Amino acid sequence: MLGKEDTAVRGNFLSALAMLIAVSVTLINIFNPLLIIIGISVGALVGSLIALKVKMTSIPEMVALFNGFGGLATFFIAWSEFNSSIDNSFQYILIMLTVYIGGVTFSGSIIAYGKLSERLKIAKTSIITKLFTTIFYISLVYLFYSAALTEIFIPTFDFFTILLVLTLLGGVGFVLPIGGGDMPVVISLLNSLSGVAAAFAGIVISNTALIVAGCLVGASGLVLTLIMAKSMNRSLYNIFFVGYAASKGDAQEVSGEVKPISAEDSFLILESASSVLVVPGYGMAVAQAQHVVKELGDLLEENGCEINFGIHPVAGRMPGHMNVLLAEANVPYDNLLEPKDINPKMNTVDVVLVIGANDVVNPSATEQPGSPIYGMPIIEVHKAKTVIILKRSMSSGFAGVQNPLFFKENSRMLFGDAKESISKLVAEFKD
Ligand code: NDP
Repeated sequence: MLGKEDTAVRGNFLSALAMLIAVSVTLINIFNPLLIIIGISVGALVGSLIALKVKMTSIPEMVALFNGFGGLATFFIAWSEFNSSIDNSFQYILIMLTVYIGGVTFSGSIIAYGKLSERLKIAKTSIITKLFTTIFYISLVYLFYSAALTEIFIPTFDFFTILLVLTLLGGVGFVLPIGGGDMPVVISLLNSLSGVAAAFAGIVISNTALIVAGCLVGASGLVLTLIMAKSMNRSLYNIFFVGYAASKGDAQEVSGEVKPISAEDSFLILESASSVLVVPGYGMAVAQAQHVVKELGDLLEENGCEINFGIHPVAGRMPGHMNVLLAEANVPYDNLLEPKDINPKMNTVDVVLVIGANDVVNPSATEQPGSPIYGMPIIEVHKAKTVIILKRSMSSGFAGVQNPLFFKENSRMLFGDAKESISKLVAEFKD
């Protein structure tokens, strides 16, 4: 049910119901459930308050935090199992792996939260980043070393405590050096790891529901991670061990002139267009412009224009971000096109409306070998007849890269909040 937009809400409800049943059955089986009921009540209260208060634009950060809490829960489960009666090395290895994956997921997700909310701005070349990255590698070595040692002796408390600390610090070093355009891959991988950790915890405490749920999240998250890496044209090894796309010096100087345009003039261009492509990005989410965008699309269609939406897999700040927003505004799924479908016929498109997108339409990814995003597939809007870009200023996108699109001959900048600008266009059409 989660695979289709019209059944997804029911699918979500069904999963929540299944979890409720699993929790209830567990409670019936437990001799003294008071502690668990208190835990669930506090967790449900805090979770509901956060979910009710969170702004739509902060959902990606919240999802990153939730992944982290999944990791933290399994970290605690495995830690507590370490203290109970375990006597063979297989169980110890399992516990160490669970602690490690859960801990890295937790601290890595906190860093991802900081990066997504743009609170954390540490350069990947800084000494702090290098220090934590080194700790991450040390933690990996220590994990394998201690796992190997369990054949010889059962680890002591001190030995295990070092692992706990290294794990949490290692998670920071795992995510800190990854930035810019590679973040979507990290987010999906952390999501997958939270599932893998849960599945491991399920094995540790022999809980089938946890194993099944963990495997589902782990496997689907991994598929998503591979899709994201493919859409960035990067291998996982390259992202996690080589670092961000090797930048060979500064990106080329951008030449050309910025040509601002008014909403009135944009209307005149749109009114005479016979095909329009809308390319939304993170700015549409910030402006919450999806409903007016849909309204504008309907008006253009009434005017006899063919309208499509070009959706880049990493647009926005979480996987499927644009799809969710456009589904909320009832834009038909059939009108959403992927870059590989739209790019070959871009030169036949009369007007592209870029709504708060920046990195995903940045031609330096294909034109400037020195650019940090070089190699990332983009929606090649610069090949259309006219491009109207809606944004508030000349500032760069998430990857912090200047965008030569804004200076191209066929580009026009419609400055302002996307929702306000589109509302003006809608008003012009209605007039
Ligand atoms: P970008 O972050 O590249 O650009 C967004 C643009 O929106 C900005 O240039 C900003 O310009 C503009 N903007 C912001 N607010 C408004 C507003 N109210 N009205 C109009 N414009 C606005 O977004 P893209 O979607 O193009 O690219 C996504 C980036 O995020 C990629 O680099 C991707 O790798 C990364 N990322 C994606 C994740 C995912 O899972 N999808 C996760 C983590 C990172 P201005 O300030 O001038 O208005």
